[in-house]
Amino acid sequence: MLKKIMAGNWKMFKTREEASRTARELVVAVGENLPDDREVLIIPSFTALKEVNDVLSGQKNYFSGGQNFYPADEGAFTGEVSPLHLKDSGCSYALVGHSERRHVLGEEDDFLAEKVAYGLERQLKIIFCIGEKIEERKQDKVEEVLARQLEKGLKNIISSVSPHELVIAYEPVWAIGTGETAGSDDISQAHNFIRKKLIDIFEYGSDIRILYGGSVKPDNCAAIIGLDNVDGVLVGGASLNADSFSRIVLAGSKTDSSL
Ligand code: PEP
Repeated sequence: MLKKIMAGNWKMFKTREEASRTARELVVAVGENLPDDREVLIIPSFTALKEVNDVLSGQKNYFSGGQNFYPADEGAFTGEVSPLHLKDSGCSYALVGHSERRHVLGEEDDFLAEKVAYGLERQLKIIFCIGEKIEERKQDKVEEVLARQLEKGLKNIISSVSPHELVIAYEPVWAIGTGETAGSDDISQAHNFIRKKLIDIFEYGSDIRILYGGSVKPDNCAAIIGLDNVDGVLVGGASLNADSFSRIVLAGSKTDSSL
């Protein structure tokens, strides 16, 4: 069994000093209590990667990731970073297809498919984000949207991809940054559907981790990660503060202070 991933996406927040301080406070708050079956992933802005990695170096089961990259090693792509830059900054993971990249910055399925394949080829572990918009949910199109995003986004990768390398994050767009979390039944239904699709597509589809993201907080995290086919969480707002992120990291474990 692969470890559950407790990931914090810090989006376009925090100076280098703030990021370094939050990472340090997180490591201290979690202390020796990180359960063996979990890993912690911090996804800061590019500018703070070095500071965060300085804090995480030597910390067992802590990793960093990039929020984005361009599918090329180098070149005339002003404003972009490459997988090599991310690896050079100490990243093990990268996000592809986060809802803000899809819906604010206009990235489409074919481009995301290119990124997934390129990042994997360059030995980054890819967290591929998918999720429906509220109008798609209201029209009963959740499974249709998830199927399309998976089929298109993963079309360029071989069926024997290792479950270590690829992670899916189910993030309903209407639950991101809104304070509105999907209910347990909705999460289970979506994750079970994604699992079936992964088994159809990949030889090791039953082992690929599926994270939930969308207004995860310390007080709802234990219930969410306790669901079948939920192999961790991707957290935005509540990961910005070390106390709240540490309570998410430990949620439902023996040392969860709220139990
Ligand atoms: C995210 O940024 O992926 C996210 C889920 O944000 P939030 O936790 O703030 O909803």
